[in-house]
Amino acid sequence: MPRPERKKSLSDPIQFVKGVGPKRALLLEKLGLKTVEDGLFFLPHRYEDRSAVKKISQLVPGEPVTVTGEVINAGTFRIGRRRKIFELIVQDETGIVRAKWFKFNEKFFLQKYSPGRQIIISGKPALNRYTGSGLEFIHPTVEIGSLEDEGLLESGRIVPVYHTTEGLHLKSVRAIMKNLIDSYTPRLEEIFPQEILQRQGLPPRGEAFRQAHFPPVETSMALLRKFRAPAQKRLIFEELFLIQLAMAFKRKRTLETEKGLPLKTRGPTIQQFVKLLKFELTQGQKNVLGEIMDDLEKDRPMNRLLHGDVGSGKTIIALTSLLTAVDNGMQGALMAPTELLAEQHFFNIQPYCEPLGISLGLITSALSPMEKKAVQKNIREGKTQLVIGTHALIQSGVSMPKLALAITDEQHRFGVAQRSALRQRGEESPHALIMSATPIPRTLSLTLYGDLDISTIDELPAGRHEISTRWLPPERRDAAYGFLRKQVQEGRQGFVICPLVDESEVIDSKAATEEYERLSTEVFPDLAVGLLHGRLSPKEKDRVMRKFRDGETDILVSTAVVEVGIDVANATVMLIEGADRFGLAQLHQFRGRVGRGEHKSYCMLLSDSPSEVAKERLSALEHIHDGFQLAEVDLELRGPGDFFGTRQSGLPNLRMAHISDRKLLESAREEAARVMEKDPELKSKKHAPLAAQVARFIDAVNEENS
Ligand code: ADP
Ligand code: MG
Repeated sequence: MPRPERKKSLSDPIQFVKGVGPKRALLLEKLGLKTVEDGLFFLPHRYEDRSAVKKISQLVPGEPVTVTGEVINAGTFRIGRRRKIFELIVQDETGIVRAKWFKFNEKFFLQKYSPGRQIIISGKPALNRYTGSGLEFIHPTVEIGSLEDEGLLESGRIVPVYHTTEGLHLKSVRAIMKNLIDSYTPRLEEIFPQEILQRQGLPPRGEAFRQAHFPPVETSMALLRKFRAPAQKRLIFEELFLIQLAMAFKRKRTLETEKGLPLKTRGPTIQQFVKLLKFELTQGQKNVLGEIMDDLEKDRPMNRLLHGDVGSGKTIIALTSLLTAVDNGMQGALMAPTELLAEQHFFNIQPYCEPLGISLGLITSALSPMEKKAVQKNIREGKTQLVIGTHALIQSGVSMPKLALAITDEQHRFGVAQRSALRQRGEESPHALIMSATPIPRTLSLTLYGDLDISTIDELPAGRHEISTRWLPPERRDAAYGFLRKQVQEGRQGFVICPLVDESEVIDSKAATEEYERLSTEVFPDLAVGLLHGRLSPKEKDRVMRKFRDGETDILVSTAVVEVGIDVANATVMLIEGADRFGLAQLHQFRGRVGRGEHKSYCMLLSDSPSEVAKERLSALEHIHDGFQLAEVDLELRGPGDFFGTRQSGLPNLRMAHISDRKLLESAREEAARVMEKDPELKSKKHAPLAAQVARFIDAVNEENS
């Protein structure tokens, strides 16, 4: 009697897939693949079309093709004194063709390609370099067998190209993926009810994985390249749908379970404050403030994302909202991602607090333990009404008994868990406002932040100058330095941002230090150059920044740490090295560090070897000055995975790189809304697989952020 097969599960270790084993499992783990499910989602990053099969007599120089034939001769010969070439002569019923290698393992090749063997060659034939006649393949891909064989992986088909790692050949990855697909997709559970598949015209799940890895011959390469083939579409749709459903679910839970603190808005402090303002709020600011005030009045906690481009004036919105807490005899907190930023907020807000008679506290890790204790005591006793801080705010020991509103600035720097930790400082469920300058297109934000309400400030205060932006090839670097020097001579200041070398702060800081040495001794020996990087202590950072703010430093060399929110009105030049290595959103943030005063400002983007896509992106920065519009462009060009730059916390980890397909995003939203409407608890039998996926998704987001 045959042994019953072990039940297969997507959480099986990838090691148990045929062809893997312990050694390769370690290599696969380097690629982030631990389970069979990881493997299924490990989609090719591109495809190679080796499906054009021709007879030898039909070969055309330069056209990629696959031919099949019999080896009639194989061996090495020398050219000159040193070089050896391995040559195969292959014949079909229409003619012969040669294949040549300059690098090879002779013994292995002789064994593999012995005369009489049937082989399949894929590559681009070329005319012989010396004779100018006779077609040959140089270093082609060869497979043993004939095209009638089933299960060919390397030729006669559209071939997947995967990322690999040292010690793991692409061919091995392909073979592993084939085994994985063959043994796991045939009985893969479908998670969508039939009606959704039909309405959206999507293939079943197992079939989608199979086709996404090994596209059938008739698939259009053009669609594959754009990630628009039905199989890929199905997987993208699935991801967007699940995010959407999970967020909607989470939101519903919050609404049902949390009781809030209804506040009275537009009280006396706010009235007084508005009179102190030296400018009038923009219409955009007024609108979002209205939305926030409406939320604060409700008896369920606000959970709102405030989106606004750099410089759109979010701080004033934050402060006005915080004053509502004060008017109600409660406390408010504002959390910023860095010491510098927390201090900047503190110094910006303090001038308003004094005339209003509000006690404002600042809590960062720069405080001595004694100081910290004192501040904490004041907060705890309710003497401090508003508090600004860094992560130190959410560390244990701080409790804010009367916390009514918790605001997080530059939310992309914080995870979901940190945001909720801030709210938990209070005793009841305080209102939460999350501010972000990461301009993401509305469709995308509705999906990613589906558990939040969203407000957008869609205009900048009047009178802002556009920042003149140019990207320059490396040979213009000296001209860029010349320009920077001229601006400094006119009394201005500038930034030089060093390239992102690595995700490691240690390495980036080292590179920035070297750049600083070079600039301060060779290029600008006569100017005052400063250095800012992530390895400096908070005190040192503060000193460097303060010197720059006070005009004692002409040029500030910095790593990406300078990215968020810092305000120096006299700075007019932003020079960014290695610009192609940053996301557009981040470049736009850097650019927002200048042009904050009355002087015309400039941004120069240097890039040593930009790819075509990088060139397109950099020139988008030249003529687009609106962060949201840039976001759309970046989404089109690169997809959201890249858009956010290095992986940022707080966002669900997207597996499917490309979701630039607006239509798909919208239909995923519609379908998710339909499911939520019909079956809000996901209780019906046909939604059981969906319910399981949603639960997993929510767990994953929570885990990722804890
Ligand atoms: P961000 O949205 O990037 O955090 P800020 O809140 O730092 O922007 O505001 C940028 C600058 O614009 C600040 O100097 C602020 O005082 C100023 N500002 C804010 N709102 C207005 C307005 N309505 N009119 C003029 N200036 C404003
Ligand atoms: Mg800000």
